[in-house]
Amino acid sequence: MGQAKIAPEPEINLKRGGSSADLQEASATIARAMGEPIGRVVVIEDEQPVRDAVLAALRAERFAATGFEDLPRPTDVLAVAPDLAILDVLLPSGNGFELARLLRQHQELPIIFLTARDAVADRVAGLELGADDYLVKPFALEELMARVRAVLRRRGAIPQVLEVERVIVDEEHGFAARAGRELALTSTELRLLAFLMRHRGQALSKDQLLTQVWGYDAYDHNLVEVHISALRRKLEADEVSGGRLIHTVRGIGYRFSP
Ligand code: CA
Repeated sequence: MGQAKIAPEPEINLKRGGSSADLQEASATIARAMGEPIGRVVVIEDEQPVRDAVLAALRAERFAATGFEDLPRPTDVLAVAPDLAILDVLLPSGNGFELARLLRQHQELPIIFLTARDAVADRVAGLELGADDYLVKPFALEELMARVRAVLRRRGAIPQVLEVERVIVDEEHGFAARAGRELALTSTELRLLAFLMRHRGQALSKDQLLTQVWGYDAYDHNLVEVHISALRRKLEADEVSGGRLIHTVRGIGYRFSP
């Protein structure tokens, strides 16, 4: 009676797996849940399919993204108040490096250059301009998005780790700990915990958790219950110091609070 029948989710070892598609999905889900852009990115790329794909990928992860198809005036870029620029090197009316140099006179703007394959001279020029990163064309969008997040984290533009009451979640590295003791969480448990922590003190309904953490309109509340109890087992185990963190809110769902 009342036994939840849920297919076990694959145990993904996030420690070894690095920043997987799961984590990308997690950050996108969390950002959507938060409803605010997590950063502003300017994309300067003359090849329209590339530009459109990059803009779409950025927006899917809740970045505010602005595209330019040719060299803009530096003031047009700065008007957007960007946190990062993705800058193609070869543009119809000039060179991306020249724009980078002009931009840098105004602002320490992180830049990821997109360079042609094997353009060693490009890389040297970019390095001299203090580029934050390069990507050689053709590149995978996932790779670009991983670089974008890495650059912005390094710059402190997006948070590196969540920390509440001695619970730490590092979404990039798939790491979670409480009171210095590592918690072996599945990718879903990690997402769930991060979501609860970002909304600490709020009562969250099971529907809300399904939509925001699983990312689709699921109807099975058992899915939430099963994952919450697994998360509680790991987070609130006897050998982990500290008390209850995930509270049941009768008739609604759950609340994360010390
Ligand atoms: Ca180009």
